[in-house]
Amino acid sequence: MQSSAYRYLGRVSIWWSGLPRWSRDRMRWLRSMPNARRGCSDADGLNIKESGSVHTITYLTNISFGLGASDSLAEILRELGVSRPLVISDHGIKSAGLLKRPGFAFLNTAPVFLDVPTNPTESAVAAGLKVYREGGCDGVVAIGGGSPIDLAKGVALLATHDGELERYAAILGGLARITSAVAPLVAIPTTAGTGSEVGRAALITLDDGRKLGFISPYLIPRRAICDPALTMGLPPALTASTGLDALSHCIETYLSPRYNPPAEAIATDGFKRIWKALPVAYADGANAEARTELMMGALEGGMTFQKGLGAVHALSHALGGLKEAKLHHGTLNAILMPTVLRWNLQVEAVAEKVGYLESLAGLEQTALADALDGLNQRLGITPRLSELGVPRHVIDWVCERALADHSHPTNPRSLTKEDYAAILETVF
Ligand SMILES: [Zn+2]
Repeated sequence: MQSSAYRYLGRVSIWWSGLPRWSRDRMRWLRSMPNARRGCSDADGLNIKESGSVHTITYLTNISFGLGASDSLAEILRELGVSRPLVISDHGIKSAGLLKRPGFAFLNTAPVFLDVPTNPTESAVAAGLKVYREGGCDGVVAIGGGSPIDLAKGVALLATHDGELERYAAILGGLARITSAVAPLVAIPTTAGTGSEVGRAALITLDDGRKLGFISPYLIPRRAICDPALTMGLPPALTASTGLDALSHCIETYLSPRYNPPAEAIATDGFKRIWKALPVAYADGANAEARTELMMGALEGGMTFQKGLGAVHALSHALGGLKEAKLHHGTLNAILMPTVLRWNLQVEAVAEKVGYLESLAGLEQTALADALDGLNQRLGITPRLSELGVPRHVIDWVCERALADHSHPTNPRSLTKEDYAAILETVF
């Protein structure tokens, strides 16, 4: 298959370009009013105030997609003017031999940082930044799953922005402090899951234990290189958990109440591809077509983040911050998805949308939530949090964190702390 390059337009203001000049000036004035600012998308669920019928819809990044796309890395770095990149990856990727691919041979002399924790931390960002500075780097190449890519976003940010990482956290007003000066970042995913390669957010745990979102359009990697060949060797369990994470992105963003039809079209397309390809890739990891479809579905899931996620991610972000157990983000989402879906079905608009997803999945007699239970079972996902080592005494803490999470406001049904506790009890 040929690899193809996509460029998603830039900022789309659908109501804007056709307006006469006086009208545009008036719109500018309206947008400068406090409540009209930041329509609804840039902050990914943070400080969101819907502003009447005006919505900001943004598709920003360049994507090289297809088998063999990673061979173009050297050329892409040249285009970006990066001559001394820091490579951020992890030990697993290195031992899988992925860094030895011919297309990466020119990186032999580049500084490399591999000590990336499962959930990226502030201290790992500092350690990566030290290597960046000592190596005289002028850009970052992230090769790996969501963790190396999120960590790379933190390093690219602090390489050019002064002060502690904390001041750039979205809930502490970081969105306004992150500028276009962020060092150029090229993201090359080796799993089909997180969508971080096209996302504007990085989740990083601070030294004091708070897991915070760092969100800015400038944190979207300058280029995403999506090469399904890099996912061929992914073991079935990781294929399942990352693929189910991607599936949950498509479902949650589609069901989010925020207005964004382009994102909904992308989310449903991603859902359809993942639904079909995931069981195939799980059974036969070397199936290039299934790997390609899965990677496209995951990419599409990432492209819809601006519509906002929901309760599944609010809970999985909180559970991911537990010290008591190291939990895989995708596995958590897979466990939570059917129960949250049943919960959200009480909302009429959700029931209608779920009906559409059921038709896309070819489900005639089975409800989507039940089919998701069945899929989890086929893919070897445990249905219970307790089996992953989650202790019961953390439920209260997890519910508090879920309420404060940036994905909470865009769940289609409003949830209280007690509702979150009831959902957790169901899957405990
Ligand atoms: Zn996710």
